[in-house]
Amino acid sequence: MLVHDALPMRVVFGPGAVDRVAEEADRLGLRRLLVLSTPRQGGLAARVADLLGDRAVGTFDGARMHVPVTTVAAAEDVAAAVRADGCLAIGGGSTIGLAKALSLRLGLPSVVVPTTYAGSEMTPVWGLTEAGRKTTGRDPVVLPSSVVYDPELTHALPAAVSGPSGLNAVAHAVEALYAPDGTPVISAMAERGVRDLAAALPLVVADGADASARSVALEGAWLCGACLGATTMGLHHKLCHVLGGMLDLPHAETHAIVLPHVAAFNLPAAPEADAVLRRALGTDDVPGALRALARAVRVPDGLQALGVRHEDLARVADEVLAAPYSNPLAPTRADLETILEAAWRG
Ligand code: NAD
Repeated sequence: MLVHDALPMRVVFGPGAVDRVAEEADRLGLRRLLVLSTPRQGGLAARVADLLGDRAVGTFDGARMHVPVTTVAAAEDVAAAVRADGCLAIGGGSTIGLAKALSLRLGLPSVVVPTTYAGSEMTPVWGLTEAGRKTTGRDPVVLPSSVVYDPELTHALPAAVSGPSGLNAVAHAVEALYAPDGTPVISAMAERGVRDLAAALPLVVADGADASARSVALEGAWLCGACLGATTMGLHHKLCHVLGGMLDLPHAETHAIVLPHVAAFNLPAAPEADAVLRRALGTDDVPGALRALARAVRVPDGLQALGVRHEDLARVADEVLAAPYSNPLAPTRADLETILEAAWRG
């Protein structure tokens, strides 16, 4: 029996789409928006506040990686002071994560303008970090009410961020293809998303202002993010979550490095997923093609290049073994050590 729950989200996609944010706010009946960004994207936040006119009642540009509760509390104070009735988040997964936290705690709906390929805007998954521990959960209330994808905003995304971020999206699609709750809709989105990103990422890294490649990559990220939003993730996401949380590693790079190694372990046990990925990547060797793509977009070479010490790998394996997750086959401790060793060496 198949069950496919379509998530209730509106997407506006296209060059210049950011100019439509005021229209999106009006459609949702939002009159008092708090604009959210990271400090680095404060200029973009100001531009969006301008576009919103008097619908923007405040700006909070303190979004940070992993959504620290202290940051959420500070944003909540601003939202209360300006009597916000919604948020507009412009940025990557960190800024979108802050909007989700405000939706969860204050019930504020959000308009989201993603500027990376992480895909968080397509998922009901939230995360909060307190005293070094990240808690995550699923709640439909955190789903953005409207997502405005404007590929022109991604031209400024540096090559060193674009490549790993795009492979982070590819990882969502790979795991969706062998998820227990996969459906033909998910498979179709995953295949298209992986094909888009594999074709566009090397072009984007070579020339960040390649408008057509930027558009294809962002479309791929949208599709891969939607796969993540609709399915239960497996070993790859579990491993990256543990690595990131325990060793404080950069999110997208960790995904990009680990993906080929988990694919090499899982795909022999997931022949249908393997067949879809072979088509999407035009290859008989999916892990090899994922490794080649990572190299082509200059992903750091192995976890050791991120500063991971070899002796940390055993603790990571312990934590992954202790937690339940879904996967085509259950790795033994020796399997995990082999995967981690290979990912560490690169
Ligand atoms: P990010 O949001 O942390 O952004 C990285 C940096 O790049 C920031 O300084 C940001 O301001 C800057 N930046 C973003 N877009 C830019 C652009 N177009 N031009 C110039 N600079 C730009 O990175 P990310 O990889 O998008 O997000 C990672 C976070 O998202 C992690 O905390 C991860 O856990 C979370 N995430 C959550 C989900 C989910 O479903 N909840 C899914 C994927 C990722």
